This record gives sequence, structure tokens and C-alpha cells, in this order.
Amino acid sequence: MTRKKLIAGNWKMHGSLQQNEIFFKDLLSMSENLSKKYNDFYNHLELSLFVPSLYLFQAQNFLANSAISFGTQNVSNQAENGAFTGEISAKMLKDFAAKYTIIGHSERRQLLGETDEFIAEKFFILQQNDIIPILCIGETQKEYEESRGIAVILQQLNAIFANPKFDKNNANFVIAYEPIWAIGSGLAATPEQVQTTHLAIRKRLQELNADLAEKVKILYGGSVKPENSKQLLNLPNVDGALIGGASLKANSFLAIAESIF
Ligand code: PEP
Repeated sequence: MTRKKLIAGNWKMHGSLQQNEIFFKDLLSMSENLSKKYNDFYNHLELSLFVPSLYLFQAQNFLANSAISFGTQNVSNQAENGAFTGEISAKMLKDFAAKYTIIGHSERRQLLGETDEFIAEKFFILQQNDIIPILCIGETQKEYEESRGIAVILQQLNAIFANPKFDKNNANFVIAYEPIWAIGSGLAATPEQVQTTHLAIRKRLQELNADLAEKVKILYGGSVKPENSKQLLNLPNVDGALIGGASLKANSFLAIAESIF
């Protein structure tokens, strides 16, 4: 089975109505050119943008009639709307047609103290609302240097897989392996490092269910740029990329997408 690549842009806390409008217009015209250049373009990949929640409505307005999907970078851990000041529920994201939502990004784990258990609550709430969670996992520089990277990410995954709510027949989730030391550093993991870790993740999925392991996408994230994307995106078990900095301009985001061809 070939898994379609997912080329996902994480804008983090960037953007403005005006900047986003320029981005979406560029993205729509440039992606249309690419889909003419490669006439089976969207059979090979999906483009998706993860905007600050406040701009989801704008993303929907620009992208709803295109092949490009969109979502947000976080969701509340509360299943029902209610007295949770400042939170945004999965039901609200669904109202604006979010297809995916990123959860467990290392910036939220590290800056806001999000735990594996808290992230697991969000994972299951998203699945219940038919929004596909993109679960970010990854080790710190220290853990990497102590050769504990794979143990750390397997533990992060286990917070989901060992949860009684986990349904091993539901392949509606994506895993994004993002070594923390590679995020925003300009220094991506090497192809060998990426391959070793993605294979360990795939094997863990196979232990759960062979069919699930065939379907679940494993993205790599951490300083993916047009200069290194061809090497990284064409590795076995790399089903796409989660892209921060290079997703803020339509041309670099799409240059990464084009590198799969
Ligand atoms: C990210 O934010 O998930 C990310 C990988 O960032 P960058 O591409 O800028 O390293």
C-alpha cells in the first residue's frame, strides 16, 4: 500500500489577516500550476496548513473549495463546550471544517507543561469529533545524546496506545516525529537518524495491528527546507513532513512538496 504524502505547514504564532491573504492567494495559484505540471499531483500528496485558531475561518474561506486541507495547532482537552475560559473545543474546530489538528507539539510540552496524559485526552476527543490528530513526539538533545531517543518516543506513543480508549482498528491519526533539537535550529536530523526512528515507530504500530501500521502516516519535522526535503521525504517510512519556518511562504512550502516528484 502506498501512503499519500502529507505536506503539513505549522505556522505557529505567525500571521495576520493581510499576510495570510497574500499567502493563500499565492498558494492557490502556485499549487494550481504544480497540479498542471504533475497531472496526478494530488494522488501523490496532500497539502495542509495549520494556522492559529483565530485564522481558521479565513483558511476555510480561501481553501474550502480547493484540494488543500487545513486545521489548527491545538484543541481543548474538554469534550463538551462549557466554562473553560480561553479554550477552543473540537466541536468548534469542526464547525470551521478543520480536517486535522496538531497536538503535543514540543513547544506546548516544554513551554506550557503539557503532559502525555493531557495530550492523550485531546487525541481521543479529536477522534470522537472526526478530526484527525497529528500527534507530535520527539526527544530532547540530551536524550538524543544519551541514546534514549527511541525509548522516549515509544513512551510518548504508549500514553496513547495503552489508554483504554485507544482503538487499534481506527487508523485516523498521524504521527509526527520531531526531534526537539532539530526544530527551528536549521539542523535537520540526518536521513539515517530519521530512518531508524521511523522504522521503530512503524514496528510499534505493527505490534498493535498490521493494517493500522500500513495506514498510519509518520511525518518527519525539524528544519525541513527545500534544500533537504528531497532526501528526507523520499526515505522509506517517511510519509510527509511537518514544516514550521519554511511553511510561512507559499513558494518554500510548495518547493518542499514538489521535492517528492
Ligand atoms: C515545527 O514547528 O513543527 C517545525 C518542525 O519547525 P521548523 O520546520 O521551523 O523546524
